[in-house]
Amino acid sequence: MSATRVLVLNSGSSSVKYQLLDMGDGSRLAAGLVERIGEETSRLKHSPLASGGEARESDGPVADHEAALKAVAQELSRDGLGLDSPELAAIGHRVVHGGKRFTRPTVVDDAVLAEIERLIPVAPLHNPANLTGIRTAQALRPDLPQVAVFDTAFHTTMPESAARYAIDVKTADEHRIRRYGFHGTSHAYVSRETARLLGRAPEDVNVIVLHLGNGASASAVEKGRCVDTSMGLTPLEGLVMGTRSGDVDPAVIFHLTRVGEMSTDEIDTLLNKKSGLLGLCGDNDMREIRRRIDEGGEDAAPAQLAFDIYIHRLKKYIGAYYAVLGRVDAVVFTAGVGENAAPVREAAIAGLESLGLAVDGTLNAVRSGEPRLISPEGARVAVAVVPTDEELEIANQTYALVRDGNAGAA
Ligand code: ADP
Repeated sequence: MSATRVLVLNSGSSSVKYQLLDMGDGSRLAAGLVERIGEETSRLKHSPLASGGEARESDGPVADHEAALKAVAQELSRDGLGLDSPELAAIGHRVVHGGKRFTRPTVVDDAVLAEIERLIPVAPLHNPANLTGIRTAQALRPDLPQVAVFDTAFHTTMPESAARYAIDVKTADEHRIRRYGFHGTSHAYVSRETARLLGRAPEDVNVIVLHLGNGASASAVEKGRCVDTSMGLTPLEGLVMGTRSGDVDPAVIFHLTRVGEMSTDEIDTLLNKKSGLLGLCGDNDMREIRRRIDEGGEDAAPAQLAFDIYIHRLKKYIGAYYAVLGRVDAVVFTAGVGENAAPVREAAIAGLESLGLAVDGTLNAVRSGEPRLISPEGARVAVAVVPTDEELEIANQTYALVRDGNAGAA
């Protein structure tokens, strides 16, 4: 098959992010973002990476996802990379929730669309937007395979002991309540790249992956398979995040309902959008929190407390997953905070020498976009920084599925 290009689409509720990749040589041809869809001040930013030209930005209303995708198609056409090109092999879509059923990337057909729709109650914010993205792309290129790559798929290997909550089984099953986990594309990519960094096969290594972006999650990966992850039914569980609380006693919710007289929606907003680092100190950006701490003064104390709570939770998960795995070959940091915030990496690993974990100050201070080790030479357990690349992973998985022309729906 000569078509080697894959368009990756990540459709959020009010945004579409995209990248066009050529899987022949792994190059990135274009990338961009449409933001604030449906508002008066939508913005499109397009980077023509193939030509190395300047990024183009345009403001103006973009009514809906269909208009957004048409605008993206137009930008791509200006670079001679239009969606009508015979070189386009497939469109890969990030889909947040694939439930138990989707354990791998899947070519979209009507049954697949119906199942993604059926999962809306467990992913009310994400799956509708993902569906709109797929349907819009289908309308633009009905002849092209559309591939859904699920955030949950990598975690479907978790054993029941990790995937189930200890609540009444009948109630849980009736409402499909279990731990699904998210960021799976990133955990899959980063755990594999970590094995490569160690010069070993993914099947030979046990890795703890710490994906620390605005959303954050940890996973325990045993011989290439996920055996536990910190997010659950929704992305709210687990680590302290930019605006999400992570773990809380579920009785906090009853308390806020009964004593605080808050509605379910208010509590949902509180825990998902007004908690985490933002709720603790008023900032959700780790750069700003570090600046406040480093500058000292009155503003530093709440920032320091937020940082300490963030690190305490992170450390607890490292310890927990160390115990889950029994033997650990590497702890790896990724995503915006994990890749850039040396103080977070240093603090999270501090004091874990008896587990064979340590960070070398000089290596940790190096700024780089490359996968790298930050543990001292000869350390029993590697500590690494591996930049994530969810778009590349989606493109790889999409292309692998359609390359040989056997893109039948699963
Ligand atoms: P997401 O994809 O979840 O939106 P990212 O993985 O892009 O998030 O991470 C975004 C976060 O990364 C920002 O909120 C910011 O806190 C953090 N970040 C980015 N650069 C730095 C830096 N140099 N130092 C500390 N934190 C950083």
